[in-house]
Amino acid sequence: MDTTLRDGEQTPGVALNAEEKLWIARKLDEIGVSVIEAGSAITSEGEREAIKAVASEGLDAEICSYCRIMEQDVDYALECDVDSIHLVAPVSDLHINVKLKKDRETVRQMSMDTIQYAKDHGLIVEFSGEDASRADRDFLRSLYIDGVDAGADRVCYCDTVGLLVPEITREVFSDLSSVLDVPVAVHCHDDFGLAVANTIAALGAGAREAHLTINGIGERAGNTALEEVVMILEWLYNYDTGITSNELYRTSRLVSRLTGLPVSANKSLVGANAFTHEAGIHVHGLLADTSTYEPLEPEILGRERKIVLGKHAGKSSVTLALKELGLDVDNAQLGEILSRVKQLGDHGKHVTDSDLQTIADTVLNIYRESRVKLEDYTIVSGNKVMPTASVRLSVDGKEVIEADIGDGPVDAVLNGVRKAVADFADIQLEEYHVDAITGGTDALVEVLVKLSRDGKVVTSRGARTDIIMATSEAVINGINQLMQN
Ligand code: MN
Repeated sequence: MDTTLRDGEQTPGVALNAEEKLWIARKLDEIGVSVIEAGSAITSEGEREAIKAVASEGLDAEICSYCRIMEQDVDYALECDVDSIHLVAPVSDLHINVKLKKDRETVRQMSMDTIQYAKDHGLIVEFSGEDASRADRDFLRSLYIDGVDAGADRVCYCDTVGLLVPEITREVFSDLSSVLDVPVAVHCHDDFGLAVANTIAALGAGAREAHLTINGIGERAGNTALEEVVMILEWLYNYDTGITSNELYRTSRLVSRLTGLPVSANKSLVGANAFTHEAGIHVHGLLADTSTYEPLEPEILGRERKIVLGKHAGKSSVTLALKELGLDVDNAQLGEILSRVKQLGDHGKHVTDSDLQTIADTVLNIYRESRVKLEDYTIVSGNKVMPTASVRLSVDGKEVIEADIGDGPVDAVLNGVRKAVADFADIQLEEYHVDAITGGTDALVEVLVKLSRDGKVVTSRGARTDIIMATSEAVINGINQLMQN
């Protein structure tokens, strides 16, 4: 059972409208989920419209609504034309006495009445014990037995606040599945990070149904993640779940987008980093055989392997990434590209393909044309000083020092560079474009300039995290191209 649309939607701050629920429900049905808990019909008119929309979509999955042990809740579920109800009775004394202000036998009677009422109206009933992990075990067992006698088609044991451990889970589920002759379901929460472990333990001990949500979303720390349970069963236990695994990543993205809940980068299987490799030595291993540093192939989940370059980048990962861009470089060029990638990496940046393309283009250009080199520059700028730049260039091996002012620091350094080469060439700046490639103030800045000399026009670029460095680099590159002949 997938409860993304009910328990998942109970995540603080999440509200899905009918159309959004329908998108998610279609996807869940497409990947092969057996039961979709579409919501809680008692909640609101809008919720009922959404559940009704899902129920009338003609999906293969059984469509279910959450209900409390009250006839009114069942009536609302019936209004939505669902196939089944997830009928939840509080079963711990804490919930029975403190929350409901009733006693065990009253809860038993209310449960049986509601089960019978729902069965009389043709619904499939999954009878669920809320806070079961803190309930008296003998009471709980007798309640389930009575529930099945009253017509419940399945029962569910809810670890409502995530207190189970796998050892207790195995005990509980082997007991329940041996005394009950209907399927037993498990519903876990991840308050201690054990939701998946407990769910797997329950399934191993006889549970035949698990309540899951995409990305593990749900109240507080969330529910058991569907994609994790599916892949654990498929990949680690060699069990066929019937779920289309290569749609799991797209499903995860859809739910994240529609709920507005981001998936953390290190989340198993569906997190951004789950199949992303950075460290140089790992990439070296991956080049030989991807299984060296991957537990399974990303394609199995409908994903792709990503190699990003950062501070741990090595020659092999940069060479590999350059090859994928169709670029061949010599050793000196590779060294310069690597050092620029590492500079960005030291700032915590990941170097994307377009970053690398820009860096490589820039470096290859510099190595082709090198009559003019920028040795260093100094800029003074502020709201009460005239922006002033001094630059030191080497032109054909000779040192040239020059200074100039400008409208701003970028303009000042440009003027300084142009003045320094004025004896060799009269360079005009025709156009200037600046672009932050990956966004953020620490992003790689790409500067494109169009320069002209005696009617000859060239476009050149510079790429640095510093806009002034990027500008100088672009201009020097352009000047070198113009001075080539
Ligand atoms: Mn729950």
